[in-house]
Amino acid sequence: MFKETQSSKDNLTILLQRHFGFASFRANQEAVCQAAIDGRDVLLIMPTGAGKSLCYQLPAIARGGTALVISPLIALMDDQAHKLAALGLRVARIHSGLDRDAARQACRDYLDGNLQFLFIAPERLRVSGFAQMLAKRKPSLIAIDEAHCISQWGHDFRPDYRLLGQYLPALRPAALIALTATATAMVQEDIVEQLGMTGAAKFVHGFRRDNLAIEVVEVAKPKRVEFACQLLADKTRRPAIIYAPTRKDAEIIATELATRFPAAAYHAGMEAADRDRVQRAFLEGRLDAVVATIAFGMGIDKADVRTVIHAASPASLEGYYQEIGRAGRDGQQSRVILMHSYADRRTHDFFFERDYPDVEELNKIFKKLSDAPQPSDGVRYALKMDADVFDKALEKLIAHGGAEIDFSGNARRASANWRPAYLRHFNGKHAQGELVMRYIESTQCRMSGLVAHFGDAVDSRRPCGKCDICLPAECIAQRFRPATDAETKLALEAVKTLRRGGTKSAGKLHEEVCGNNHTSRDEFETLLKAMTTVGLVQSEDAKFEKDGRTIPYRKISLTREGEEWNGSADFALLLKDDAGTATTAKPRTKSNAAAAGAAEQAAPLSADSAALKEKLKTWRLSAAKTLGQPAFCVFTDKTLHAIAHERPRTLADLVAISGIGATKALKFGDDICRICGEAT
Ligand code: ADP
Ligand code: MG
Repeated sequence: MFKETQSSKDNLTILLQRHFGFASFRANQEAVCQAAIDGRDVLLIMPTGAGKSLCYQLPAIARGGTALVISPLIALMDDQAHKLAALGLRVARIHSGLDRDAARQACRDYLDGNLQFLFIAPERLRVSGFAQMLAKRKPSLIAIDEAHCISQWGHDFRPDYRLLGQYLPALRPAALIALTATATAMVQEDIVEQLGMTGAAKFVHGFRRDNLAIEVVEVAKPKRVEFACQLLADKTRRPAIIYAPTRKDAEIIATELATRFPAAAYHAGMEAADRDRVQRAFLEGRLDAVVATIAFGMGIDKADVRTVIHAASPASLEGYYQEIGRAGRDGQQSRVILMHSYADRRTHDFFFERDYPDVEELNKIFKKLSDAPQPSDGVRYALKMDADVFDKALEKLIAHGGAEIDFSGNARRASANWRPAYLRHFNGKHAQGELVMRYIESTQCRMSGLVAHFGDAVDSRRPCGKCDICLPAECIAQRFRPATDAETKLALEAVKTLRRGGTKSAGKLHEEVCGNNHTSRDEFETLLKAMTTVGLVQSEDAKFEKDGRTIPYRKISLTREGEEWNGSADFALLLKDDAGTATTAKPRTKSNAAAAGAAEQAAPLSADSAALKEKLKTWRLSAAKTLGQPAFCVFTDKTLHAIAHERPRTLADLVAISGIGATKALKFGDDICRICGEAT
């Protein structure tokens, strides 16, 4: 038995050397190849550059016959096909960039069994007769590259990938191998389900980055620009990339940084030539920092980035992982810092509410539509819906198949099945935001949390030893202090509770330990974090499904040390010291938020801010006149005071101020930000 395994191992290595000229397999490649050669379906998730292609190419050669490779981009297809041809393998492509004769020849070669690899674009399957042609001579292996494109949760959703599920069965029993770099648990489930590959061997590897120290730090919004400047004042922390939530934020931060060292903004609103210039200057070391929008950092690839800062919490952990991944490509130690505060949650809720209307809003429109096209404006009028809400809801209805619209704006009813699709999208998007919040509040090692998020259950058990949870003493963005006697006592109480009752959710533990004292959840979380760091307890992010939604929570359990601890000073608890960072009150509960709001009101205004408040009042008067409403209906004095104090320059800043709802932010946001911008 052993001998056989050994010899098949040798055979694989020989194939690797003979056909690809590589001396040895990279981590995990061999196991994946073996599974595919054995005829198993495979879901393979490894980061970009890890060497996924080999994992279908080598099995294809070993199995003989033709491998069908489905790939979303012509450039990607051409590149891989050329590389394989250069290795002396028999390859053909069929895509829209080639002429008909070439495509016909490729089909003939395929049917004659002359090909080892046939690359096609997914939309080709829609061409009549093409799928039948493929089925005449079944492939020996089917590889689906960039498989996340099949899922709306992947960042590159491609409708044509949806076709695959319906055409694959006719091409079976070939083994299926789906490859991607960015699949979260949600995307993975989607891929498996849609491709019909239940029972596939799943390989998730390589997401750990050993040279990144991750910090997550609470910083009030108005203080973040200055905080970023302070963090980067030390030259050894540069070059740096700062991610900002909007273009305007990027401009503001870049302008401020540029007063200290060479820095510039980089975002999609800039001319391509300007962007190129910034990128080149950064790559060549003439700029110390670029401030990019989260949506547009793609082009930046520089090996020696020492620091990546997020100036606001990201929209998804996938995006966040990619962005922090731009630090330390040279393998040198690097640090990544995420700034957040409760205000970020408000901002996210705002954008979520704006972009994902309630399913009932869509339903109202659907019911009002008929089979005959009618002007959409008329529908909106009949429904008395706000224009912004209507446009968004109609857009979503169309996107999920419930309505169609023509070029002159006439809408008609389409499929009645739009609802589950929309709910799926809605819930999934909501879960993405929740997972980011959980990550931020987590007491689990940061790197482990990310590795677990990508589905590597084995590797996620190892703490990184560098992040703010594992090694608080080395943090640069936050300071820590020793626990007081009362806190140590509380920690012991928590340990005893766990000893009695076993693993508990963090919420339940707080309830049981702090039910009779006045320790808030926030304070208790800080203590839990400290206990995790010294290894008294373990914290693990978990989730359960309820009504189609994923609800995340944290499980707290005792470690062996925790089982034995009696409150002795062997375990020096270090708690986050608010004084060490630029933090303000952290309203997490409604009553806290109200209290913080009151504090803002009480804060006296500087002369400049008082002048700004007067300007805002003048604006309010004219806005009220236009609307034919009393001034306080626009904004109360209290809210104007808070605006003058906070000086929001972007919509995201504005909605972070308590007392400002989504509707008003949308209506007046541009005016307010302009006035505050002029005053700065
Ligand atoms: P991915 O698809 O995972 O992003 P690729 O399959 O394009 O990555 O591989 C990235 C690079 O690694 C390619 O240049 C490839 O030739 C190289 N590579 C893959 N496997 C090996 C190996 N075992 N030894 C050396 N180089 C390898
Ligand atoms: Mg690839």
